[in-house]
Amino acid sequence: MEFYAEQKSSGRGVKVAVVGAGVVGFSTAVCVAENLPSCSVTLLSDRFSPDTTSDGAAGIIIAQEFPDIPLERQRRWFRDGFDHLLAIAQSQHAPEAGVLLSSGCQIFREPPANKRPYWWDIVFGFRFLSERELRRFPEHTFGQTFTSIKCECASYLPWLHRRFTKAGGKVEQKKLSSLEELSPYYDIIVNCSGLGSKELAGDDGVYPVRGQIVKVDAPWLQHFIRDSDGTSYIYPGSRYVTLGGTRQEGDWRMGADAGDTEGILERCARLEPSVRRARVLGQWVGLRPGRRNPRVEREVTRSGGGRGAHVVHNYGHGGNGVTLAWGTALDATSLVRSCLQEMHPQAKL
Ligand SMILES: Cc1cc2nc3c(=O)[nH]c(=O)nc-3n(C[C@H](O)[C@H](O)[C@H](O)COP(=O)(O)OP(=O)(O)OC[C@H]3O[C@@H](n4cnc5c(N)ncnc54)[C@H](O)[C@@H]3O)c2cc1C
Repeated sequence: MEFYAEQKSSGRGVKVAVVGAGVVGFSTAVCVAENLPSCSVTLLSDRFSPDTTSDGAAGIIIAQEFPDIPLERQRRWFRDGFDHLLAIAQSQHAPEAGVLLSSGCQIFREPPANKRPYWWDIVFGFRFLSERELRRFPEHTFGQTFTSIKCECASYLPWLHRRFTKAGGKVEQKKLSSLEELSPYYDIIVNCSGLGSKELAGDDGVYPVRGQIVKVDAPWLQHFIRDSDGTSYIYPGSRYVTLGGTRQEGDWRMGADAGDTEGILERCARLEPSVRRARVLGQWVGLRPGRRNPRVEREVTRSGGGRGAHVVHNYGHGGNGVTLAWGTALDATSLVRSCLQEMHPQAKL
């Protein structure tokens, strides 16, 4: 076990392990390393960019509503993420980090019960589509238009990795069979293993939601179009246009499906006929970490040797992980801070 070189609390501060190198893991690792200097943070993961689910996500900052999380908390997650990414989009780091403003519309076959999503006043310029604008989409009767952000994780993850290293963080490649195996070596374990939490946290509420996309070359497309059901979308990006998609619950297949590709091209062409002239560059499949609600909370476990490690969970973001990663990372960091306060009640943190 040479990579666990030091035992925990060895005089170099509190040892924190963050498990997972997707957008949730790296966001959390950066937040802990930058905000809690008394911690020495190591990120452990079996897969890294470009091989995580996060890497292929279209990365549009839009969220669905989770049923059991107070809306106020969901709003905070969304706003914190939006503000964080907006600051990057407006800085010299934007191209390197893969973060850009993105405008477009979300369209509905029937008007929704809530015509404004909870984040309507966080994105910019939110309004309903006019009748004239809606004529573009004969199958739809209602639409919203706004400016949001696109965060391309294939660039953003390596950028976060560099930021984490700069903050003193360390990275280890390792497949874990349980969180307890880290207990003898770390004081606090932050679980950001996405779908891996089904096993690592023994959580039967976690399930895959398979998503296939098609990458096309269509540089004339500049505005996104999203069907509100989340299965048909056109998201222009910095290097290619992402056409989607599928939402297949309980489906673990990682290979691209020719029938899905055909369906995606057909549905997207109904939204925007010029898609038929786009050159297909490739396909990609990812498994969203589905769960009724994201789990962002503390738990205390006991290791085999009887030494407890504090555990903070941050997983289960479904189709909203890029959007909510920074907001939930800040919450997870507060939970790590509360662990530190229990461990060292006199310390100023
Ligand atoms: C087609 C598609 C389009 C999407 N579009 C969007 C979008 O537009 N906007 C949006 O907000 N979200 C979108 N998503 C959702 C988003 O991709 C996910 O919510 C997000 O990637 C989840 O991030 P994560 O870090 O939790 O998981 P992951 O990226 O899956 O990372 C999990 C990490 O944990 C590690 N791990 C797991 N098990 C173990 C283990 N046993 N030992 C060690 N390490 C382990 C993995 O190796 C990996 O590094 C999309 C998803 C798909 C599939």
